[in-house]
Amino acid sequence: MVAVPLVLTRRADVRGDADAGAGAALVDTFGRVHRDLRISLTDRCSLRCTYCMPEQGNEWLARDSILSTDEIVRVARVAADAGITTFRLTGGEPLLRTDIVEVVRRLAEIEGPDGPVAIAMTTNGIRLPGLLPGLVEAGLQRLNISIDTLDRERFRELTRRDRLDDVLEGIAAAAASGLRPLKLNAVAMRGVNDTEMIGLVEFALAHGAQLRFIEQMPLDAGHTWDRTSMVTRDEILEDLATRWDLTPVPGRGGAPAELFLLDGGPQAVGVIASVTAPFCGDCDRMRLTADGQLRNCLFSTSEYDLLPVLRGDGADADVDRVLRACVRGKLPGHAINDPSFLQPARGMNAIGG
Ligand code: SF4
Repeated sequence: MVAVPLVLTRRADVRGDADAGAGAALVDTFGRVHRDLRISLTDRCSLRCTYCMPEQGNEWLARDSILSTDEIVRVARVAADAGITTFRLTGGEPLLRTDIVEVVRRLAEIEGPDGPVAIAMTTNGIRLPGLLPGLVEAGLQRLNISIDTLDRERFRELTRRDRLDDVLEGIAAAAASGLRPLKLNAVAMRGVNDTEMIGLVEFALAHGAQLRFIEQMPLDAGHTWDRTSMVTRDEILEDLATRWDLTPVPGRGGAPAELFLLDGGPQAVGVIASVTAPFCGDCDRMRLTADGQLRNCLFSTSEYDLLPVLRGDGADADVDRVLRACVRGKLPGHAINDPSFLQPARGMNAIGG
C-alpha cells in the first residue's frame, strides 16, 4: 500500500505561534467564524463512485497513520473549546470504521462553551440497518445519505457495485428512525441521472427526507472532471420547475445548500452549487482527515499536520495552535473558476465530504 498522497503539508510551527488566542473563536483573516468540523474516519468505502474513486489502483492511507479514537476525541475536544459546535463524520464511508458507535458516543459527550456539540454523519447508508439503533443511542443526531440514482443498472455502473437494494434499505431504516431532518444527497451528472431529478425528489419526500442536489466538483481521484459536462444549478432548478413552484428560502447563513420550498412548502429541495454559485464567503467549515491532517477548505492544496503533535509530546495548547494556524491560512474561496485552479491531490474519499 502507498501511504501518503502528494499534498503540500504545512507543519504548523507550534512554538513560534505562541500568541494563538486559545479559548477564542476560530476566526480566519476574512472574519469567518468556524463552527463546523468535518471528521473523516476512513478513506475506505464499500462503493467506487466514478466521481470519487478510481476502480483500481487507489492509493490508500497507511493504516498506522489513521487516527485512533482517542486522538480524534482529543482534537475534537480542543476544537469544541474553540467554538466548534458540530462534528460531521465522513469518509470514505464512516460506517466501515469498526468502532463507529464508540466514536459517536465519545464525541457526543463533548461540551463546548455553549453546551453539547451536535453529531452528524454523511454515509452511503449500506450499513445503517444494523448500526442505526446503536448510533442513535450513542448520540447521533443528523444523517445525510448519498443516493445518486434509483435505477439499479445505473447505480451499478456509477458505483461499480450492485448495492442499490442495500442503500434503499439504509434509507428506509433512517426514515423509520426519529432522526430529522433527514437529507438525501445526489450529485447531478449529465447523461447519468439528469433525467431522474424529479423522481429523486419524490422519492425523498416519500421518505420524509429532503433531497439536495450537488453540482459535480473537480474532486475525483481520476481528475476527469469536465466543466462542460456538469449539470448546473440553473439547469437543476429549470427541470424541477416543470413539476413544482419553487420559492427561495431566505436566511441560508453558512449552509452549503440553497433551499427552495416546493409548491409553497413546508417541504423543500436543496441545491449545493459550489461551482456556479460559490458560497465561500460564509464558509464555517474545516476538515480533519483520517490521517490527521487539518484542511481549511475542500479544495486546499496544503494541509496542517497534527500527527507530530498527537503522537509526540504535544499539549492540547499545541493542538489548538495548529487549528488556529489552519484557519488563519484559509483563502477567500476555492477558485474553481480561475484558470490557475489546481485540483487537490487527494481524492474526495481521502478528504472527507
Ligand atoms: S470551497 Fe472551501 S471555502 Fe468554499 S465553501 Fe467549500 S470548504 Fe468553504
